[in-house]
Amino acid sequence: MENSARRTLAWEGGQLTYRFTQKAVKNINLRVTNGEVRVSAPRRLPIARVEAFLIEKQDWIQKALAHQVPTRQAPQDTLAPKPGTSEEEKAFEKAFLPVFEEEYAAFAAFVAAAAKAPCPALTRAGIAPARQTAFWQQTAYVKRGGRAPQIAFRAMTSRWGSCTPASGRIRFSTMLAQKSEEDWRGVIDHELIHLLATGHGKLFHALLDAFDPANRTRRRALIAR
Ligand SMILES: [Zn+2]
Repeated sequence: MENSARRTLAWEGGQLTYRFTQKAVKNINLRVTNGEVRVSAPRRLPIARVEAFLIEKQDWIQKALAHQVPTRQAPQDTLAPKPGTSEEEKAFEKAFLPVFEEEYAAFAAFVAAAAKAPCPALTRAGIAPARQTAFWQQTAYVKRGGRAPQIAFRAMTSRWGSCTPASGRIRFSTMLAQKSEEDWRGVIDHELIHLLATGHGKLFHALLDAFDPANRTRRRALIAR
């Protein structure tokens, strides 16, 4: 019988939680699947040896985890928390929220129209960068100093969208081309709101709920399909 348990290990800069299984194998086996680290090792191998092995592989494990998200939590993105204070976030919200709110429908329509353009799956850019710049530059949001995003489509299978705050890049999965307008709306909303709030904290969810009260239902429906 296999003996499997969740274990936590302290390593540089934080900790690692992994699923550990002892079985009749000769070597330590390491896999990262659906955002979970799975380790199996020979029954008689001391746990200290397993942990030393994981610490040795820290860089590799962290890279592997960064490229995956648990499928049960999709749609997801790889947004890193912004280094900054909530005071800064509040000031930003106060300055940009009203104008963002006013133009939000146009933002979402622009992105959705691009998604429905012929064969977005065949072009990496989806919308020509010059056209994007032209669009964002005429918005009050950008005229007052808001960050203009660059939107692209990518063949991503593990997430519906991603946003890199430092560069303002927003990427959508080409898999969305087969999804309904409702599904699209949820993913577009999620990524656009990241222009106002990085991370998935209180501010982010407050804004998302305000723009799209049905976002949680929509998200659950998209995951279920
Ligand atoms: Zn997000």
